[in-house]
This record gives sequence, C-alpha cells and structure tokens, in this order.
Amino acid sequence: MAELLKPDLYAQEGTKSVPKHPSLRGGKCAHCGFVFFPLQAYGCEVCGESGDSLQPFALAGSGTLIASAKVHAYTPDAKAAAADVKPLEAPFVIGTIKLDDGPTIRTVVIDVDETTLKRGQRMMSKLVPVGTGARTIVDLRFTPAS
Ligand SMILES: [Zn+2]
Repeated sequence: MAELLKPDLYAQEGTKSVPKHPSLRGGKCAHCGFVFFPLQAYGCEVCGESGDSLQPFALAGSGTLIASAKVHAYTPDAKAAAADVKPLEAPFVIGTIKLDDGPTIRTVVIDVDETTLKRGQRMMSKLVPVGTGARTIVDLRFTPAS
C-alpha cells in the first residue's frame, strides 16, 4: 500500500462523481455552502462561520485548466530529500486548475508537452511515486484527461 506524502491534502479514494481519481481533502461551510481547499478551521472565507460549521468535504480530482507555466529555475525543498522523497526538479509545469467542485488550486502538471496545453482543457488528479527509499511514497499531480 502506498504512503501518501501529504495525507492532510488528498486521499487515494475518489469521489462518487470521479471514483477513479484521488480526491482532495477540502471543506464545506454548513452555514453558507462555500466549498474550500484545503480543509481549515479558522473560519469560512465567505460568511465567517467557524467551528462545527466547517466540515470535511471530498473534492473530485477533476477540473479545468485556467493557466500554466513552465518553471525553469527552482530550488528543491531540502526537507523533501531528508524524508526519502525525490525533490521536484526543474523544468516542470505548474497549472492553475479550477476544480469541478469549486476551489481553484495550483499544482504540478505531468505527462504533458506544455506547448500543447490549452485554457479550458480538462485535467484529472493522479498519484505518482516520489519516494527514493524502500517505502512507496506517492504525491498528487494533475494530468490532462485522456
Ligand atoms: Zn460560510
């Protein structure tokens, strides 16, 4: 069984609407219905409710590409390497994706020729191995829907 690098942010299980792609751990305000990511308990960004009004809400791992950029220079996260995780290495592609369930996220986009990316393109979540040791560690990425 793979170990999630950031289990507070996503889950291996999908949602009812998108069962085959990992879900993101967001939240929903029970008072006004606002959906947000990541899950937090500080208060609703729309109505200000806090406490029990902010409930966990699994976000489908699907969305639409709003913008993308290729990163050519990047200083890897030293903590990642210490935790048996392969640091992200430039060049890589970052995408701004509006999730179908509401929130907009910025994430690494993989398996893509960045010159072919188009605004409005459908994107799906995917877990990829990032471990360097014996443990199988996976992290969340997005990739164009096939
Ligand atoms: Zn609210």
